[in-house]
Amino acid sequence: MIDEATISEFKASLRGQLIQPGDEGYDAARKVYNGMIDRRPRLIARCADAADVITAVRFGREHDLLVAVRGGGHNGAGLGVCDDGLVIDLSPIKYARVDPAARTVRAGGGSTWGDVDHATHAFGLATPTGIVSTTGVGGLTLGGGVGNLTRQYGLTIDNLLAADMVLADGRFVTASAEENPDLFWAIRGGGGNFGVVTSFLFRSHPVHTDYGGPMLWDLAQSTEVMQWYREFITQAPEDINGWFAFMTVPPGPPFPEHLHNRKVCGIVWCYTGPLEQAEARFKPIRGFLPPVLDFVGPIPHPALQSMFDALYPPGLQWYWKADFVNELSDEAIAVQLKHGSELPTMYSGTHLYPVNGAAGRVSKDATAWDYRDATWAQVIVGVDPDPRNKDRLITWARQYWEAVHPYSAGGAYVNFMMDEGADRVKATYRGNYARLAAIKHKYDPTNLFRVNQNIKPST
Ligand SMILES: Cc1cc2nc3c(=O)[nH]c(=O)nc-3n(C[C@H](O)[C@H](O)[C@H](O)COP(=O)(O)OP(=O)(O)OC[C@H]3O[C@@H](n4cnc5c(N)ncnc54)[C@H](O)[C@@H]3O)c2cc1C
Repeated sequence: MIDEATISEFKASLRGQLIQPGDEGYDAARKVYNGMIDRRPRLIARCADAADVITAVRFGREHDLLVAVRGGGHNGAGLGVCDDGLVIDLSPIKYARVDPAARTVRAGGGSTWGDVDHATHAFGLATPTGIVSTTGVGGLTLGGGVGNLTRQYGLTIDNLLAADMVLADGRFVTASAEENPDLFWAIRGGGGNFGVVTSFLFRSHPVHTDYGGPMLWDLAQSTEVMQWYREFITQAPEDINGWFAFMTVPPGPPFPEHLHNRKVCGIVWCYTGPLEQAEARFKPIRGFLPPVLDFVGPIPHPALQSMFDALYPPGLQWYWKADFVNELSDEAIAVQLKHGSELPTMYSGTHLYPVNGAAGRVSKDATAWDYRDATWAQVIVGVDPDPRNKDRLITWARQYWEAVHPYSAGGAYVNFMMDEGADRVKATYRGNYARLAAIKHKYDPTNLFRVNQNIKPST
């Protein structure tokens, strides 16, 4: 128990708000993006700046509180919130400042990718990120970051130049190639295990208008599409990215009525080469099998990045399963199709994101992300607004995963996992795990930061 006077003192020392059970806004503040997560922290410190983060980390440590750190709050497993303990909520630390000459962007630890895309687009620049703009910069980056620019410009971590961090002992440090390089290695894929990042510095690239969007085919054509796709994407030039999906066509505009609620397979493309060459580059793609819907064309990069935002508002029920995939044999494709054609709800789906190309050319030991040899990061997500469908979502996702896992590379991308235990985390980091555990021991020996895909400190 912490007495009221101590809490009042903590509250007075923060520039941001301190929210407790019973306070107006407590229920809104404890909610995260996944509606399946329902946790009740003892305290929520809405940090306004790095000084607040230092104060909050020290308070959590001194009072032996379970500490959760919240960036964008999107994590499927709800790792941005905890029961009983202290939530260090970074959402007020939200800014993106571009240096157009250096082609860099600095983003606050609580920013979303929409904040960053908005800022960089004005300068004709972009940093590789995910595919939904409401996702937090913090969690996505620290786990790795896969999305529309991965094949050309690498994972988000491959574009991270530096991070300002508050460590478990309250010290404020910078992690970069020059300063604390071991820490910099670990935060590029090792998640929120090593401290609280108050600001990220990213490299950005000249990307303004993509040629992209979804191309959909009838479910009955899935085998042919997947077989073509596996050959294409493993050999395609790196300025073409395309992630594969089983999905259901939403029942509303801009989709034509005859496709509403139809289960389909699709590829969401993003080509960033010269626009005048785009039609020619897409001719063979369009030619191999005519799609039932072709929404691919010139599109401002932030519009592609936020295309799915409206379909997935906060508060839906989400259940995640994931694997890295090296190859898609005909047998594996048949299993994918069996489960992919049984999507339990309109919002559910599976995605295969390519992580080859530029991301695959980085060596395994250059960052904590071990699966540089994988071709795809697959995610299977059961999603629905109605909590009564929760069990159906979970059952479908687990059965799908159990069926395809034998064809996978073994581990999974940490940002696509639920809370699945230590062995799954180890399977993800493989040969890099021991080094991560040693760095964890150096920077967080008591495992203060353990509400994450946890790496146990070890010498
Ligand atoms: C709709 C949707 C789409 C997605 N699409 C993609 C995608 O295309 N590509 C992709 O790679 N991922 C994607 N993801 C997964 C996403 O990367 C993870 O959910 C990620 O954890 C979200 O980060 P966050 O900051 O929003 O989450 P939070 O729930 O706030 O945090 C997640 C974890 O990161 C830690 N953390 C967050 N910020 C910080 C910080 N500043 N310092 C230290 N630790 C921090 C937290 O402590 C926690 O352990 C998607 C998720 C959703 C819900």
